[in-house]
Amino acid sequence: MRLRHRINYWNSSLRLKLFRQRFELAGLRSGRYPPPSYVLWDCTRRCNLNCLHCGASKEHYDNELSTVQVKGFIDQLARLRVRTFAVTGGEPLLRKDLIELLTHASRLGIKTGVATNGFILDENKARELKAAGVSSIQISLDGDADTHNHIRQNPHAFDRAVQALRYCRKAGIQLLTVSTVVTGMNQDKLEHIKQLLLDEGINQWKIIPLMPIGRAEKSNLQIDKPALKQLLEFISQARRQIPILLGENLTYLGRDEARYRTKVTYCPVGISACCLGTDGKIRGCPEMPDDPRFIEGSILEQSFDEIWQKGFKPYRNQSLREQDPLCGACSLWDKCRGGCWVMRLGEAHCIKNWRVE
Ligand code: SF4
Ligand code: SF4
Repeated sequence: MRLRHRINYWNSSLRLKLFRQRFELAGLRSGRYPPPSYVLWDCTRRCNLNCLHCGASKEHYDNELSTVQVKGFIDQLARLRVRTFAVTGGEPLLRKDLIELLTHASRLGIKTGVATNGFILDENKARELKAAGVSSIQISLDGDADTHNHIRQNPHAFDRAVQALRYCRKAGIQLLTVSTVVTGMNQDKLEHIKQLLLDEGINQWKIIPLMPIGRAEKSNLQIDKPALKQLLEFISQARRQIPILLGENLTYLGRDEARYRTKVTYCPVGISACCLGTDGKIRGCPEMPDDPRFIEGSILEQSFDEIWQKGFKPYRNQSLREQDPLCGACSLWDKCRGGCWVMRLGEAHCIKNWRVE
């Protein structure tokens, strides 16, 4: 393993430990937790594609937040000095007020980002996003043209996504990320995607194993243990050519983790991140199902600060250790903290079941 990777990994481990200690101490001493560093907005469940593995089940909400309500929320984030506001969905570009809202956030000094399928991101939209101050855009690519189009259920999805990447690069978007959800359908296409990203000069590649939610819950597309092993081997080689972020839904990966990751990672919910839902409810992350188990409050009823200070208890204390006897007795708790809450819904959260060493 390269020495540089190992050093980066151990530095990040130390930083994360100190960050977590400071966060918990602040809560204990002053009763006030530091604000999240980034907030995601799950802005709509509408989408122009129909992906086989999609986490959003295409629920229809009539009560999407209005422009005024979202501006009010962004104002609150600015007062709390939240650093980053990123928009996801559904397909965010379907919201007609997206540019106006991103411009509002940028003017208040908040960094902004957008995750999109790229289908309607043309040259003009890329310029508008740049002018709105957007510094980071993430576009999904899940295979070669045939595989991507099959997964997205649209014969033009691949070409449009690649074209959108080019428009964003031309418009001068600072950070361009491609995200790939790895499933049983595309695990053999990763080499192809890597070459494309290298040819297109993409800054980084986010690789996320499929989560057991939405349509994916019943799709039987999750990768199995041998496939995960292959995936990690692929990542350990490919990251020499392109920076790779392995999704945090695979938390601690064991002793050799520094081969696959630049930095230590565990679920950021309630510590450094949270998500505003389509209808104003706050939950941990966009992948968490929109049901009462995961709802911490609504910005239509309380201030965001109040929700942040009083909510998120299970993610901040150790109650999970009491509820899950395996975690309670586990020597890896400090590194793993019980794994991803969404993967837990499909009992795919524990490295001991995925043992790769
Ligand atoms: S038992 Fe819990 S803490 Fe230990 S590795 Fe599994 S999920 Fe993580
Ligand atoms: S619950 Fe899982 S997907 Fe959501 S932020 Fe935590 S690790 Fe990531």
